[in-house]
Amino acid sequence: MGWVLRLVETETDGAGRGVDVMEISWRSDLREIANLGLTLSEAKQLLARVQQEIVAAQARDHAVLRPDCSSCGGRCHVKDWRLHEVATLFGTVAVRLPRFRCVSCGHNATYTNWPSHCRSTPELDRIRAHLSALMPYRVAAGVLTHLLPAEAGKSPETLRGHTLRIGEQLRAAPAVRPTAAALSITVTADSTFIRSCDDGERHLEVCVGNVETAGGSRRVFGAVARSDTDIAVMIRRSLEAAGRAAGTRVTAFTDGCPGLQSILAEAGVTKQPIADWFHIAMRLQHAKQAASGLSTDAPGRIEAKTAIIAEVERLHWRIWNGKAKNAQVTLERIRNVMHVFKGERGHRTRGVASRKLWRALREVDTYLHGQSARLVNYAARYRAGLRVGTSVTEGTANFLVNQRMNKSQQMRWSRRGADLLLQVRCAIYNGTLGSGLGDLSEPLGLSRAELAVAA
Ligand SMILES: [Zn+2]
Repeated sequence: MGWVLRLVETETDGAGRGVDVMEISWRSDLREIANLGLTLSEAKQLLARVQQEIVAAQARDHAVLRPDCSSCGGRCHVKDWRLHEVATLFGTVAVRLPRFRCVSCGHNATYTNWPSHCRSTPELDRIRAHLSALMPYRVAAGVLTHLLPAEAGKSPETLRGHTLRIGEQLRAAPAVRPTAAALSITVTADSTFIRSCDDGERHLEVCVGNVETAGGSRRVFGAVARSDTDIAVMIRRSLEAAGRAAGTRVTAFTDGCPGLQSILAEAGVTKQPIADWFHIAMRLQHAKQAASGLSTDAPGRIEAKTAIIAEVERLHWRIWNGKAKNAQVTLERIRNVMHVFKGERGHRTRGVASRKLWRALREVDTYLHGQSARLVNYAARYRAGLRVGTSVTEGTANFLVNQRMNKSQQMRWSRRGADLLLQVRCAIYNGTLGSGLGDLSEPLGLSRAELAVAA
């Protein structure tokens, strides 16, 4: 006993032309849970065969159509037939399609809008790129072949090639402007590094950031420095997609890297970026940690430590309120009490706290000095409900770059490979993967949180 799966046409004259797709064997023994329902291999076979039958029927349908000549409007007749092998999510199919020639003027036509040398469906292209953006090519290839009858993309190299091509298409896609202009937009840009596989170069610089409107809509962008992707163009496009218009107030944040400032200017963000609080706070945190680690085992050290901790807090408060352009006052005051830590013994792994404190404070000072023109009253901004920093961008960098490309993954990247994969990751985040790729299906219905977990 068993089943025969039959496809029956419903649109024809009721004759119910049908075709047997496959036999499914009967497994009666439900004492074993493994016998419950279809197996994966049956499901794959079923999908592949249904796909072949559907494609065969579509090809039969298409074969009887005769287009009018696009050049003179005359009648076309079949010139010859071409066999197309196309990879789909459910296996590779072979389609024989006619090519036409105009009887009057000799003009040639195919009567399809397929891209030239089309070897795969847009949906397969998108799924391959999507999986590859979330996991190493080798793993993505394994998942595809494990779950689907798709034959294309068996090798990681093929998958990489397809994914990078999607990245190129995404890079070339223009921004879709919203109908309403945005009142205000915040743009944040930051840079990070990944390991390079090029000889003579250990790291590649990656610029990432995001554009946010007051309404909370958010888009990310990214590019590898000195790749074929122009980061200024990407930022400009993100601003357009967010609804930048003549009256839009644009506020920029950067970590102070001068390269990013000039890139933002190139993208039309002419107002000086604000030094972001996140980077300042990170440096202050180092100083606070070192201060709290000061030893209290000699006379006078408890008092000195208390005074130093208070000084660092005061520095924090002054920068937060826009009252400090450097840390010179703090350094001066702390220098006066530092002598009691002379000869402080170092911790086995953490080093000498007083030395670390001094180094951290010097770093805060240097940083503030370099940023002095871009420091603002952060407290006032915060009270007004405005953004003070780019901790959001740190999260963006983490999602866009680190989860797939960072050092712990032990991966080395080519400039082009990293840049184009980054374009795919940005599109996934922005929900634009699949749109503009000749695909009518919905983007994969995963939330950002799920993506972050999957990545
Ligand atoms: Zn013609």
